[in-house]
Amino acid sequence: MSDLNKLTIAEARDALKKGDVTSVELTEACIGAIDAAGALNAFVHKTPDIALERAKAADARLKGGEEAPAMCGIPIGIKDLFCTQGVESQAASGILEGFKPEYESTVSQNLIDAGAVMLGKLNMDEFAMGSSNETSVYGNAVNPWKVDDRQLTPGGSSGGSASAVAADLCLAATGTDTGGSIRQPAALTGITGIKPTYGRCSRWGIIAFASSLDQAGPMTKDVRDAAIMLEAMCSHDPKDSTSADIPVPNFEAMLTGDIKGKVIGIPKEYRMDGMPEEVEKLWADGTAMLKDAGARIIDISLPHTKYALPAYYVIAPAEASSNLARYDGVRYGHRASLAKGEGIVDMYEKTRAEGFGHEVQRRVMVGTYVLSAGFYDAYYNRARRVRALIKRDFDEAFDQGVDAILTPATPGPAFGLGEMSEADPVEMYLQDVFTVTVNLAGLPGISVPAGLDKQGLPLGLQLIGRPWEEGDLLNVAYALEGAAGFVSKPEKWW
Ligand code: GLN
Repeated sequence: MSDLNKLTIAEARDALKKGDVTSVELTEACIGAIDAAGALNAFVHKTPDIALERAKAADARLKGGEEAPAMCGIPIGIKDLFCTQGVESQAASGILEGFKPEYESTVSQNLIDAGAVMLGKLNMDEFAMGSSNETSVYGNAVNPWKVDDRQLTPGGSSGGSASAVAADLCLAATGTDTGGSIRQPAALTGITGIKPTYGRCSRWGIIAFASSLDQAGPMTKDVRDAAIMLEAMCSHDPKDSTSADIPVPNFEAMLTGDIKGKVIGIPKEYRMDGMPEEVEKLWADGTAMLKDAGARIIDISLPHTKYALPAYYVIAPAEASSNLARYDGVRYGHRASLAKGEGIVDMYEKTRAEGFGHEVQRRVMVGTYVLSAGFYDAYYNRARRVRALIKRDFDEAFDQGVDAILTPATPGPAFGLGEMSEADPVEMYLQDVFTVTVNLAGLPGISVPAGLDKQGLPLGLQLIGRPWEEGDLLNVAYALEGAAGFVSKPEKWW
C-alpha cells in the first residue's frame, strides 16, 4: 500500500485488522509527511520516538487475541492545548515555555488507552484565542489550500490540527472548541470537525480558556472517522465536575444515512447582511440535498442570535481572565528576570507582560473589566442572561420537533495570513458568528465540507443537534456528506 498517511481512520483500521499494513508502517508514513511539511508549521513538537513505541505496542495488541479498539494503531496529532505527560504542552504561549506536565489529559489518555499513536503536538492560537492561528508563539500554521500567491490561514484556534489533517500529515487530530475553534478551521480546510455536547468530553488536563464553553472534539477526513474518534475521546470523568455520567453510544453504528422524516430547521437569523452569495448558495444547496434525502425542511427563528457574539466576548474573556490568573511566573513555565530591588509584584507583572501575547492580554483586560465590582451587573450578569435566552431559543426549536439545524459554518472561505492584522479585532471575532451560539447553548455542532467557492477554496456547512444526540447529528452529517460528494484535496505545494 502506498501513501498510507492519506488513509482515513476507517480504512486504516480495516487494513490493520486484515494484516495488510502495520501501525509502524502507518506511523512512519506520517512521520515522513510531517518532516516534509515544515512549511505548514502544523506540528510544533514532534514525538516520533513516542509514536514508534506506541505503534509497536499497537501492532502487538492487534496481533494478540483480543478485539482491538477501532483507534488501535491509528497515528494522530494532538492540539497543544492538551496536557501530555512528559511532552511540551504550551497552549502555544510563551508563558508556558518548556512546560512538560506530569499528567495526561483524560481525552488524550482515552485515546492512548484505545491504542492511538501520538505523532506530536499541533499549532494553535495562543490559549485557543483566535480564528486564524496567528496569535501562536510558534508563528502561524498555514492552510495547505492555496489558489494564488497568498498564503492562507487554516483558521483557528485549532489551525495546526486542521492543516495537518487536510494535508494528510496524520489520519486525524484532536481539537477544542470554545466558540468555533473546531468547526471554523475544519470548514476553512475542507475537513470534518465536531464539537460534542458540553460535558461529553472531559475537560480535565485540557488547558482552560473559558471553562463553561470549552469542549474537545475530533477533526477528521470524513464523518465516519469523526464518529469513530469521538467515541474514543468521550467518557465520564469524576475529575471534571461537568463531565456527564451517561453512556457513550457506538456512534459509527448510527451512520445509516437514512434521514427520512427528520426535521431540519433553517434559522432565518443566520441570513446575514453582506453574506457572500456563494455561502448563501451553498446553504440553499445543502438544504435541497437534505430535502432530497427525505428530510422535512422548516423555517425556524432563533431571535436572540444577534446578541450571541457580544455575549460570548464578555463571558469568554471573563472566564479566561480568571483561568489565566494562575500563570504568575511561580508555578509554570516562563519567569521574568528581575533587576536588583524588584519584588514579587514586579515579577508577576513582568512575567505576564513578557509571557502573554497581545490578544491574550486584551482578553485578560476585557475579562477583568467586565468582572470588576462596578461593571459586573452591567456586563457579565447581562451576558449570562442573554446566554440563557439563546439557549431557550434552541430549546423552543427542538420542542417544535426540529432534529437538527442547518447553517453555514463560516461567513466565507479562508483568508490571507496577515490580511486581518490591521483590522479592528471585531472583524476577526465575526469569524465565529455562526458557531458561538452553539457553545453558549452547550449543544453539539458539526462542520461538514460541502463545496468549493469560485476561487477553488473549501466551504463548510454546520449542523447543530439536540443535546446528547451526537449519533443522530453525525447521521444527518453523513447524509449531507454523501449528497455533497466533496472529495477535493489541496494540491501539494509544500
Ligand atoms: N475564535 C474564538 C475566540 O477567539 C473561538 C476560539 C475557540 O473556540 N477556542 O475566542
